[in-house]
Amino acid sequence: MITVSSLLDASWYERYRRISKLNIRSSIYDVTNQCNLRCKGCFFFSSNEHKAAREEMDLTRWEAFIDREKARGVNLAILIGGEPTLHLDRVEAFYRRMPTFCATNGLIRVPRERFPDLMLGISLWGDENDEKKLRGRDTFSVSSKHYAGDPNVYYLYTITPRQIGRTERIIRRIRDAGLKVHMQLLSNDEGVDGFDWRPEELVDIRSEMDDMLDRYPDTVISSKYYHEIITTGKMLGRTFGWKECPSVTEPLDRRDPRPRRLIGFIRWASDLKTMHRCCTSETRDCTTCKDGAAHMSWVMVNKRAHIRTTRDLQNWIEVYEMFAKLYQFIPW
Ligand code: SF4
Ligand code: SF4
Repeated sequence: MITVSSLLDASWYERYRRISKLNIRSSIYDVTNQCNLRCKGCFFFSSNEHKAAREEMDLTRWEAFIDREKARGVNLAILIGGEPTLHLDRVEAFYRRMPTFCATNGLIRVPRERFPDLMLGISLWGDENDEKKLRGRDTFSVSSKHYAGDPNVYYLYTITPRQIGRTERIIRRIRDAGLKVHMQLLSNDEGVDGFDWRPEELVDIRSEMDDMLDRYPDTVISSKYYHEIITTGKMLGRTFGWKECPSVTEPLDRRDPRPRRLIGFIRWASDLKTMHRCCTSETRDCTTCKDGAAHMSWVMVNKRAHIRTTRDLQNWIEVYEMFAKLYQFIPW
C-alpha cells in the first residue's frame, strides 16, 4: 500500500507534518457593498452581488455574527467586498475575534497601530496602462507607498493576457518595495475586448510564471503545480468546473455526487444573512473560472488523490504551503 511516509524523505515528511496539523476552516465575508473603484471585470459588481443584500450597519450585529461564525468552527475569515477598508470598524470586529485576512485595493492605508499584523492582499491588475484601462487609475503608485516593507502584505497580481512578457517589471517593482506577490489569472467577467485567454496564451503565461518563481523565489509566493493547474484547468486528468469546485457555499450545495469540498465554507453577503453561491462571481460560467483560491483549494481538498507518486504528493504539499503562507498559518 502506498503511504505518505513511503513517498517522502525526512525533510519532505517534516514539511508534510507541519501543514497536516493545520485544520483550516475558512469562510468569506462581504464587508461592504461599496468600493472606491469600479474595475472592469470586478466579479462583485459585474454579477450584481452588491445588490444582493442590504448592508448591515449595526456594528453590534456584526460582532454577534462573527461570534456565531467562530462557534460554527470558522478559523479563517477572508474579508472582501466591495472595499473592506471603507469600514475599518467591521474589519476590526473580525480581527479582534479570529485569524483574519483582508483583501483591499490598497488606496486607503490600514493603520498598523490599530491592526499590527493583519494580513493584507492588495489587488493589482497589471502595469500602469492596464490598471488605468481596467480600474481607472494606477493603484500601485499609491498602495506601494502605503505598505513598502510591510511583512504582512502581499500583492495579489491578477495577470491579464496583455501582461505576457511584461510580468517581470512588475515583480521587480514589488520586490523593490520590499513586498511579496502571489499571481492569479483574470477571468474577464465583463468581456473586455482583448482580455480573454487564448489557449496558446495560457501556455505562454504558465512558462512565464514558472520563470518568475525561479528568478524571484523570495518575492513570488507560488508553486509550479499551481501554475499548471490554473492555466490548464486540469488536475490528475480531471477538469476543473462546477462538478469539481470545492468553494461552493455549503448550505447551498445540492450537487450529487458531492465532490470533495471545503468543510463549512460559506460566502456571506453584507446583510449577514444572504449567502452567495461560491467564493467568486454568482453569475460566472464555471467553465471560464480562473479563480486562484478555488483552484488552490481544489488541490488541497484532494490530498488522497495525490498520494500516488512522490512528485504528486510534493506538488500537493507545495500548494498547501503556499495557501498557508498567504493566510499566515506558516511564515513566508
Ligand atoms: S477594487 Fe476590488 S471590489 Fe473594488 S471594483 Fe475593483 S475589483 Fe471590485
Ligand atoms: S464560478 Fe468558479 S468558484 Fe464559483 S462555483 Fe464556478 S468554478 Fe467554483
